[in-house]
Amino acid sequence: MAQSCENCGIDQHVGELDIRSAAYCFRCGCLLDAVEPMDLNLGLSWMIAEFILLFPANLLPLMQATLGPESRENYISNGVTALWQGHWPLLAVMFAAFAIVFPFLRAGMMIVVLGAVRLNKRPKWLGYLYRRAQDIELWAMSDVLVLAGFVVFMRTEVQLQGRIQWGGWCLIMAAALQILSPWCLSSHRIWRAIRPDEHRAQPGPTISCEACALVLPQRYLGHRCPRCWKRLRERKLNSMTRTGALVAAGYVLYFPAYYYAMSYTLQPGGIKLHSIIDGVKELIAAGFWELAVIIIITSILIPLLKLVGLTWMLFRVRHPTAKHLVFRTRLYHVIHRMGRWSNVDPFRASAKITPCFLTASRVYSKVSMD
Ligand SMILES: [Zn+2]
Ligand SMILES: [Zn+2]
Repeated sequence: MAQSCENCGIDQHVGELDIRSAAYCFRCGCLLDAVEPMDLNLGLSWMIAEFILLFPANLLPLMQATLGPESRENYISNGVTALWQGHWPLLAVMFAAFAIVFPFLRAGMMIVVLGAVRLNKRPKWLGYLYRRAQDIELWAMSDVLVLAGFVVFMRTEVQLQGRIQWGGWCLIMAAALQILSPWCLSSHRIWRAIRPDEHRAQPGPTISCEACALVLPQRYLGHRCPRCWKRLRERKLNSMTRTGALVAAGYVLYFPAYYYAMSYTLQPGGIKLHSIIDGVKELIAAGFWELAVIIIITSILIPLLKLVGLTWMLFRVRHPTAKHLVFRTRLYHVIHRMGRWSNVDPFRASAKITPCFLTASRVYSKVSMD
């Protein structure tokens, strides 16, 4: 059957695969198709488990911080309220969307898609729903939140007695299911279960859908893909100009983002400002070099890799060469998947506000008592 490589876009023919076998693109080596022993039933139960776990993760406390007789429980919603009360309404809405709404939406949409396929029902909108679930996947950040929470927890442990609560364990399990789901659910298989690929070779020039990789005759150009409803086009409109402008804006904002403070805490001497670099220095000074490495990789190196990688790709589109072509297509894929992990520090900043306030109130009460 005709298959399109999601990395380099070339169309090629792939025969029927045996179980535990895989087909790779002859040009760039990207995985085209694989037949795993796991089936859609397992994928469906996986998604239902993730959806159910998200309820206690959001309703029960994630962590308990104790200092002497005082203790405070932290919920996911604390991050939203702290940002809202800190007069950052836009960040509060984004935090609520990435940490709460999108994980629920993604798992719910996947249950509908896999459940419909399992019941042999294929309504017209099923491909559209699966495409939207894939769009949301990058923005459903339970896993990023768990990593940010881990950094906060390790820091809290030293100042206060921290204990992970039931909500925290459920969030960790939901995030683990989200991270492992690509191994269990092959998107190629799901697309084919929604609507099979064309088995006959297409006569004349062809075009492939950038969302579901369905290969179609060129006359479909400008129309909607019959499988996922995405409009078929050869190139994104003004993609070079838009990417160039966004990369330039990224460079302008990159250095101030590290130099200026990102959050503040109330301390007896007044307000203490925290920049990302200060946070890394504090972690190293306190002996948490492994946490410092996590922040350096996620907050400093990944955004830099993204900017430098995109600059190189833009330059090479203007001055094309076949050199490093395969490496560049793979790098593009890595950049696309890794970008979301640079949100660890904003999540950490919003999550740590509550324990910091707890420490501050405790210190204040001591000062006033003295
Ligand atoms: Zn390829
Ligand atoms: Zn499509």
